[in-house]
Amino acid sequence: MKRFNKILIANRGEIACRVIKTARKMGIRTVAVYSDVDRDALHVNMADEAVHIGAAPSRESYLVYERVIAAAKQTGAEAIHPGYGFLSENSEFCNACKENDLVFIGPPVGAIEAMGSKAAAKQIMETADVPLVPGYHGDDQSRDVIKQAADDMGYPVLLKAVAGGGGKGMRQVWSEAEFDEALNAAKREAMNGFGNDDMLVEKYLTQPRHVEIQVFCDQHSNGVYLFERDCSVQRRHQKVIEEAPAPGMTAELRKAMGEAAIRAAKAINYEGAGTVEFLLDQDGSFYFMEMNTRLQVEHPVTEMITGQDLVEWQLRVAAGEPLPLTQEQLSISGHAFEARVYAEDPENDFLPATGTLSFLQPPESSEHVRVDTGVRQGDEVSVYYDPMIAKLIVWDENRDTALQRLAKALSEYRISGMTTNIDFLYNLASCTPFRDAQLDTGFIEKHHAVIF
Ligand code: ADP
Repeated sequence: MKRFNKILIANRGEIACRVIKTARKMGIRTVAVYSDVDRDALHVNMADEAVHIGAAPSRESYLVYERVIAAAKQTGAEAIHPGYGFLSENSEFCNACKENDLVFIGPPVGAIEAMGSKAAAKQIMETADVPLVPGYHGDDQSRDVIKQAADDMGYPVLLKAVAGGGGKGMRQVWSEAEFDEALNAAKREAMNGFGNDDMLVEKYLTQPRHVEIQVFCDQHSNGVYLFERDCSVQRRHQKVIEEAPAPGMTAELRKAMGEAAIRAAKAINYEGAGTVEFLLDQDGSFYFMEMNTRLQVEHPVTEMITGQDLVEWQLRVAAGEPLPLTQEQLSISGHAFEARVYAEDPENDFLPATGTLSFLQPPESSEHVRVDTGVRQGDEVSVYYDPMIAKLIVWDENRDTALQRLAKALSEYRISGMTTNIDFLYNLASCTPFRDAQLDTGFIEKHHAVIF
């Protein structure tokens, strides 16, 4: 089987560096792309070659797919790894790769399109026998039909923009009296954010956990699941600390969710790395939320408990190889946490911070501690991109010892030059409710007093 000789990474920051590491290990040459402000960035430094693709704002560089494709053609790259964010779930980009004889390291365009609309995705999942949160996701968008569905289900309900993402266009409705105001507000936000105000309505679960399944499929109809991650600890629907395996999972539930995730992937002829996100109710019922058709930020916790390199799997599968392992060959060892270290102010509504990393000393790496980052001491965290400084990942034999490792590593992290969330993460990692794994998506709000 022919492997790639050279790939281009259409991304920046930690994920670009992460992909380059594995490519290098596999003997594959790498091409970085960069904007004006990233001229001296770590990912540019690490790659074998680099191509300038425009100005600092991502709309003028990292999102201009024509320039990314031109850079790949110009350097003779055979494939493009999109990372996460930017162009990773852009079906036009995926198509353009194909038209230019470049391999898109990700799923086929049809899979990206199928998951691009929350309503269409739910319709497909229904047919594939994947459990859904009760609700209405039909084409008839009249106010009366949506309201009737909400009334029939009983309040609270959640209105969601069909084209939504990042928690935008979402509104909880606690009673019939609030319905119209919430619908109008959600529609307005959806129209502004996505240019489409179609809505779906779901039963609002009051204390769910966010549990997602990592899946992998190859071009030969094989599919496996690499178990679950619990990402319940969120602020404004953004993940803060993730862990694998999910606390309290039984073997039966793990198998049921894993198999449902594989059904979801097969229903859209999936290839490569994907994540099927579920809400897990306190009674053990689980419901499909969405499928992310790319590598996730939190993939390292899965790597730590399975001993696999998921980027290597992506590169092999994209080159046409069969999956490296079967379901029976995969197993879970120990427990892993990931904390997202951000330049932001937890005490000021997590407002992003900027500045120069005048001093930067991460905890020492070992078989227990891994730091994935795209910055060095002296680098700038600018207003242009996501202000994530690093992902701190720890592993140990069980949840308790892994959590101790996380707290210790956070206490050793030194950053000067900007406000960060490190103290907040430390408080989270060392508070009793987190130690007791009392997880649900309202965790941070509920335990505000002990964390802040
Ligand atoms: P987005 O694509 O905007 O991120 P999602 O559908 O993925 O929206 O939901 C984001 C988060 O919102 C979930 O992780 C969960 O915390 C919460 N959520 C979504 N649907 C429900 C629901 N039906 N009940 C309760 N919480 C929900």
